[in-house]
Amino acid sequence: HHIVCDGWSLNVVINELGEFYAASRGAGQPALSPVLAFTAYAEGQARRDAAEREAVEAYWLGQFASPVQPMELPSDRARLAQRTYAGGTRCHRIDKTLYRAVKSAGARNGCTLFVVLLAAFEALMGRLAGVEDLVVAVPTAGQSLVEDRRLVGHCVNFLPIRGGWSADTSFADHLRAVGKQVLDAYEHQECTLGTIVRKLALPRQPNRLPLTEIQFNLERLADKLHAAGLDIEVTPNPKGCVNFDMFWNVIESDDGLRIDCDYNSDLFDPSTIDRWLRYYETLLEAMTVDVSRPVIRMPYVPADEQNWVIEACNATAAAYPRDMRVPDLINAWAARQPDARAVMFRGEAFTYREINERANRLAQHVHARIGAAPARVGVLVERSVDMLVALLAVWKAGCAYVPLDPLHPAGRIRTSLADADVAALLTDGSLNIAPLGAGVAIIDIVRERDTIGSRPAVQPAPGGPGALGADAAAYVIFTSGSTGSPKGVEVSQRSLVNLLCAMAKTPGLRASDTLLAVTTIAFDIAALELFLPLSVGASVAIAEREDAVDGFKLLAALKASAASVMQATPTTWRMLLEAGFRSWPGFRMLCGGEALSRELADRLLEGGGSLWNMYGPTETTVWSSCSEIIPSDAPVTIGWPIANTQLHVLDRYGELAPIGVTGELHIGGDGVANGYFRRDDLTAEKFIADPFGVSPRLYRTGDVARRLPGGEIQLLGRLDSQVKLRGFRIELGEIEAAVMQHAGVAAAAVLLREDVPGKPMLVGYVVERPGAPRPEEALRASIADQLPDYMIPSRWVHLAGLPISANGKLDREGLPAPGEPTPSADRFLPPE
Ligand code: AMP
Ligand code: MG
Repeated sequence: HHIVCDGWSLNVVINELGEFYAASRGAGQPALSPVLAFTAYAEGQARRDAAEREAVEAYWLGQFASPVQPMELPSDRARLAQRTYAGGTRCHRIDKTLYRAVKSAGARNGCTLFVVLLAAFEALMGRLAGVEDLVVAVPTAGQSLVEDRRLVGHCVNFLPIRGGWSADTSFADHLRAVGKQVLDAYEHQECTLGTIVRKLALPRQPNRLPLTEIQFNLERLADKLHAAGLDIEVTPNPKGCVNFDMFWNVIESDDGLRIDCDYNSDLFDPSTIDRWLRYYETLLEAMTVDVSRPVIRMPYVPADEQNWVIEACNATAAAYPRDMRVPDLINAWAARQPDARAVMFRGEAFTYREINERANRLAQHVHARIGAAPARVGVLVERSVDMLVALLAVWKAGCAYVPLDPLHPAGRIRTSLADADVAALLTDGSLNIAPLGAGVAIIDIVRERDTIGSRPAVQPAPGGPGALGADAAAYVIFTSGSTGSPKGVEVSQRSLVNLLCAMAKTPGLRASDTLLAVTTIAFDIAALELFLPLSVGASVAIAEREDAVDGFKLLAALKASAASVMQATPTTWRMLLEAGFRSWPGFRMLCGGEALSRELADRLLEGGGSLWNMYGPTETTVWSSCSEIIPSDAPVTIGWPIANTQLHVLDRYGELAPIGVTGELHIGGDGVANGYFRRDDLTAEKFIADPFGVSPRLYRTGDVARRLPGGEIQLLGRLDSQVKLRGFRIELGEIEAAVMQHAGVAAAAVLLREDVPGKPMLVGYVVERPGAPRPEEALRASIADQLPDYMIPSRWVHLAGLPISANGKLDREGLPAPGEPTPSADRFLPPE
């Protein structure tokens, strides 16, 4: 052996060797030669080293026994496929007062400054990324890993310190936990990050660092540099190149703290980093005041940003006729311009007087049939003038309509009518859905046409207090329910009047406009198409059903109607484009109900028309925000709240998410629906108290969103398994529940897949009961009575069992793509 060591170490070895030698002799054993004794000593030492190394490794492997999910900080740009190293540096100073307060708050809790700062850093990163379990790399001097103690160099090793808390962990407890973690980590520092990562066999990605991408350090600046006649100040060079996504180096001096943050400039903007440094300062301030609050409730958004996000971005108060109902608005126009064109259908025009009188007569008829008390009335009428007249008549009779689509299966329509507890059904006989429950009057507007025509053409007198008030329900509309049956959303007249008044201003509709209505009334946006024109003295052209589903026919209808405005889902706009549609200057396109892609937006804008992205759940009355989309590279956003509406992005604990941070979009204001009809449980779950005290209630949309620095809201996806297919809102759970009802099915799952880009489809996964025959055909038939066409999976996959994830839940990612469809003779339909 060739030993290099300093005198002190040599002394230790010689002493130990001497003791070892003496011990081996003293135990009455045969004397060893000094050489043998030395060899035995060296072997023992090597074994001890190996055992120590193993213990250190075991410590670190133990730290990561449960896997850490990669943390997604809310970056300004998406990660590229390959790692990049472009960097920048931002600095922030924490003044002496706060620095001292932080230090003493730490001391009060038995923590060093480093522990306090690291604990706050962990809390901030966790809150920004929405996680409660994260890893921070803390650099240590790595010389201890090298045997040659004379080595001089920047031998930094990183200790991956894992932090975590739960919803009720107080910041004080978090501080203590971090303190212990740090001590333990230092005690086990003789192991490199590389070794830990290798031993953990973590899955590697070409664009990410394994285990952790953030680094934190505290260093003490030696006393000020002095040189005679010079004032010396130390300023860091901004980094041009970085290895971690983010590295916060905190420099402690008598003047306070300076934080130098190196960051990956492909991911983050300097303004984002500046904001985060301010959040850190706010969090430190909060910590000096009170550490008994839970980590997840520690304030970290500065007051000015909070005010801007909560108030300035939602400054939407606007006057509107709060005490009027939609039919009142229409009556006013009928009185003002009775001979103006109100409705067009199949080339025929109807004036305001005609429409109003027909609706009045039908309303009289409804009273004659069911009495004047307010009630809900189903409307099951094929697209036509009668359809619009029927809806309006229900309102004029002081009732709320329950819109139904004759294309939906009879079973589903019957359930909706029963759940809505309707007093009557207005129908044109296009679908025979009898029998209905006793006490439900079926009013066939075709067969009873003569009687209806003989009724007085004046609006019937209100049938009781409140019947004609603005608080009364305007409609109850059914939308897919995750637990198996559709739920009815009840919207008030006031909410709808607010929407129409808001829309009349932005995007805007004037009396000279014509809007082409294409949407089924089972979809709430139809209310805008049918009643916005009539509430501003404009006219509405109603597209026939066949026109609304065929691009070429729709294009022809658009031309024939000379419409200046049309509203549709992205799917319908795409269908129109495929049929050769090109917009023109002055034409307004409202696109909503589903994400609008930049590519579709650009194509729609090509011809020079204007385009608006409309966003809103049924629960907040058709649309809650909108944004004019102009040709640019900017992401398509849902823009700003409409009049008397507030949008808030809240984290999962209901705390405000600051700019750029993803959370769940919550909507408040006059559009918030009354709730789910006779479903108080569901209503309580989805409609919550407004923590900001502005709106009576907020609706939790389930949409994942973030506020961009300019204030607009960007949507990023869903928190649950609600999907949109061709504009239809679908709860996968509802389809699964329907499939599960089939006797031959042991387990089922449904996915919306897009294995072929641009061709999304529903795929059903079924596990059959042993011995049961392949249930596919019977299954189709049994669900076809409950689910509308668009909810029926187009492909089925038979599995022996559903894939289950580590936490025992269905692993949706693990469901296989369906293979190529097998052409089967009996399902071949010859072209017609
Ligand atoms: P619905 O109740 O049918 O109007 O569906 C509401 C849901 O559709 C929202 O919660 C969103 O998930 C989605 N949605 C509506 N409009 C848009 C839009 N403009 N962009 C993206 N998603 C939208
Ligand atoms: Mg909507």
